[in-house]
Amino acid sequence: MNTASLIDPLEGKDPLAPHRNRMMYPLAIAGAVFLTPFFLNDFIMGRYLLGTTVMSIVIAFAVDAFAIHRGRRPPIPYPILLVPMVAGMGLSLATQGIYGAMWSFPAVLFFYFVLPRVLANIGSVTMLAAAAIFAEHYFGFDVTVRFVFCLALTIVIINIILNVIGRLQQELLVQAITDPLTGAYNRRHMESMLSDAMERYRRNASPAAVLIADIDHFKKINDQFGHDVGDKVLKNLVALVTQRSRRLDRMFRIGGEEFLLFLPDTKSGDAFTRAEVLRKSVAEADFIPGHPVTVSIGVAELVGDPSRDAWIKRADEALYEAKHSGRNRVVLGPARESTREAVVG
Ligand code: GH3
Ligand code: MG
Ligand code: MG
Repeated sequence: MNTASLIDPLEGKDPLAPHRNRMMYPLAIAGAVFLTPFFLNDFIMGRYLLGTTVMSIVIAFAVDAFAIHRGRRPPIPYPILLVPMVAGMGLSLATQGIYGAMWSFPAVLFFYFVLPRVLANIGSVTMLAAAAIFAEHYFGFDVTVRFVFCLALTIVIINIILNVIGRLQQELLVQAITDPLTGAYNRRHMESMLSDAMERYRRNASPAAVLIADIDHFKKINDQFGHDVGDKVLKNLVALVTQRSRRLDRMFRIGGEEFLLFLPDTKSGDAFTRAEVLRKSVAEADFIPGHPVTVSIGVAELVGDPSRDAWIKRADEALYEAKHSGRNRVVLGPARESTREAVVG
């Protein structure tokens, strides 16, 4: 497993999804404000069907915007809005001529900013096809070709922009959770990952374990060989551990030369064995020629700890013991339950 593959849990997510309600609120208000004069005019001019369709869009916008404003879930699902919008487009073309087609441009922009990409593409292409059929029927080939190419180009441009936004957001997310020196995840990401593991343990009793590894006498390495060599040791250590990790294992840098390895679906016996293998491979790795680099490791399986910190603390206590019993060794932390029993008994 290389460092790049560590970013996999974030891949493939819809970059706008977490911001959808925040975007819908101003968009819905703007839509309602801009469309209201038109549906009123439609009623005045006796275009009741078109007026009612546009009014239904305005009402849907207002209802959702109000709910978002009150911090509630918008009652009208956004994909439902596709129906009156495509219908309004068709009616507008039929009753008002090619000018009605101009509404398709803000409509597709709206689709892409409030709907998941697949739905937005479906909605936009449906609108393009419906508008093209109407335009061809009422206004002929020349106008239709220009309209179709204009709208198709708009759809392509929006997709390109959203792809770039998605990639930028991906890079920022990776930066926000990664330690720049070693490529390991940082503490912030560890907190959310361990909380998820605790939730899975509470729900399905899914086992999990953590190893906390601390480089022995690292200060001496810095003092003797320089900070740059120290940095290289940190990088090599992370590379070595991630190379030997399973797909769902995660390594976090939690201090200067201190790392936490999260092992999902792992009980203490296996975690201890894995820690021993890591300890040995670090000792044999020859990071600095002629100068052995070693790690001490504390291991703790999740055993219904009251908090994330309590779980980490047990691994930390084991690490402390490993340091004090001579370094370059692995110590398995006490299971909280058995400690309590021992105290009670
Ligand atoms: P022990 O065996 O008890 O763990 O001793 P130690 O020397 O490893 O531990 P100590 O906490 O005394 O020293 C840790 C050192 O790690 C001190 C600090 O200068 C160094 N350090 C912290 N972050 C970095 C870093 O990013 N790069 C380098 N090169 N050194 C770092
Ligand atoms: Mg150390
Ligand atoms: Mg330390």
